[in-house]
Amino acid sequence: MATDVDCAVVGAGFAGLAAANALQLAGASVAVLEARERVGGRSAPAEIAGLTMDFGGMWLGPTQTRISALAREVGAEIYAQPIEGRGHVQVNGRAARIPKDAVELAVPLVPRLELLRLQLQLDRLAKRVPLDAPWAGKGAVALDRLTVTEWAKRHVWMATVRAFLSQVCRTLLCAEPEEVSMLFFVFYMKSAGGLERLLGMQGEGGQAQLVKGSMHRIALELAQRLERPVQLRAPARAIVERDEQVVVRTDEGEVRAHYAIVATPPGLAERLHFEPGLSEQKARLLSRQTMGSCIKVYVAYARPFWRARGSNALCLSDGDAFTPVMDVTPPGTERGVLVGFFDAEPARAWTDRSPEERRAEVLETLRRDLGDDALQPVDYAEKDWCKDRWSEGCYGASMGPGTMTELGPALRVPHGRVHWAGTETSTVWSGYIEGAVRSGERAAAEVAQRLRRTIATEEAASAAS
Ligand SMILES: Cc1cc2nc3c(=O)[nH]c(=O)nc-3n(C[C@H](O)[C@H](O)[C@H](O)COP(=O)(O)OP(=O)(O)OC[C@H]3O[C@@H](n4cnc5c(N)ncnc54)[C@H](O)[C@@H]3O)c2cc1C
Repeated sequence: MATDVDCAVVGAGFAGLAAANALQLAGASVAVLEARERVGGRSAPAEIAGLTMDFGGMWLGPTQTRISALAREVGAEIYAQPIEGRGHVQVNGRAARIPKDAVELAVPLVPRLELLRLQLQLDRLAKRVPLDAPWAGKGAVALDRLTVTEWAKRHVWMATVRAFLSQVCRTLLCAEPEEVSMLFFVFYMKSAGGLERLLGMQGEGGQAQLVKGSMHRIALELAQRLERPVQLRAPARAIVERDEQVVVRTDEGEVRAHYAIVATPPGLAERLHFEPGLSEQKARLLSRQTMGSCIKVYVAYARPFWRARGSNALCLSDGDAFTPVMDVTPPGTERGVLVGFFDAEPARAWTDRSPEERRAEVLETLRRDLGDDALQPVDYAEKDWCKDRWSEGCYGASMGPGTMTELGPALRVPHGRVHWAGTETSTVWSGYIEGAVRSGERAAAEVAQRLRRTIATEEAASAAS
């Protein structure tokens, strides 16, 4: 049977775009189908006070080598996360000013010693979690039975440190600590290289750098490199494998290919109709990978007024719905730009409120830490990812108790001619853009290897006939 292309890619986020580019580089023909009217997926542009920023993923860090390389390739200007000055942190009802991003200094001395102990415990657990098979590590089943909250109740003595860990879970996963498996949490932490990297805003931290003019423009550049333009507004509905080819159906038509790569968030992959049907294990896994809840907000001011007062506008509080907040002002503007989040339960509580109510809550929260000037913004913009049809939440999907050990082995196993990409399938910086790029490149390598075999078989058959 004739095919239209070697590989069909479903989803034009960073994973799908990286997969398509890698396959094209390997000499394969690729068609990319994207449900939205734009590429980028969970990387999306934002306009605030005349500046182009990101409503989706925006930070990168020096250990994120693949996205850093792509940024360099497209000539993107990288700037350091502004961090000079003192931050405002509140843990378990106690407020403190901290230098730069030294959040742990907000915790009094005795609990801080326990915080150090917590880090050692997490590092010890991480040693037992193989990144490519967290379900197979020593003690995996026992760890996977516990939520982060349950684990903390057993292993962390002080309420302040438990509160700290809970807030870390909300901030990193946009999920409540009662919802997340401890095994998943440790895997996530290890896949980024440890808690310090996950939380850090300088050095090797995952929030150390930003892209001037938006991270999203890198996604645009990746799409522009493709010989066949990405088909926009083309949601895939069904993936049918028959007669040694795979047919991806949309409302408008279909693409016939030797192989397909599904690079959507797990919940959206679950909605596709597969023929033959997915294995029970894969189908259940997709339905149990739960997206986080998040509303991302920008507030712009005439000037970064907080800097003159020695503040770096890092505001983190386990008592606020709108937290954390950071200064992301790009170089070359007089404006001051803050970004902040409603994460996890607060996002779910605020998603059905009006934008005006959210704006009032945001400004009042900022006023408490930064003073009355915070009430005079020049612009405000927000995006509610809970209501985004083609993401169904963010930043990524996490797993509740029991999921990883029972269903995790199905994460990357191809379904016939269908391969899986998406940040949730990555072993490195899972949940991040780096993870998305790596997952796309891994799926492309799998397909390229099978394509080489397909071509060799076809050549042998035609030589014999
Ligand atoms: C608010 C927010 C902040 C974040 N902050 C950061 C950050 O600072 N740094 C960082 O590294 N990461 C961050 N992330 C996470 C990061 O953006 C994601 O991990 C990454 O973009 C995921 O890429 P992906 O390609 O795996 O998935 P996606 O970007 O979700 O791409 C999947 C694509 O598939 C499409 N699709 C879905 N269903 C179908 C269908 N049936 N047919 C066709 N197409 C379909 C979707 O429209 C989408 O374009 C953030 C995310 C958000 C939303």
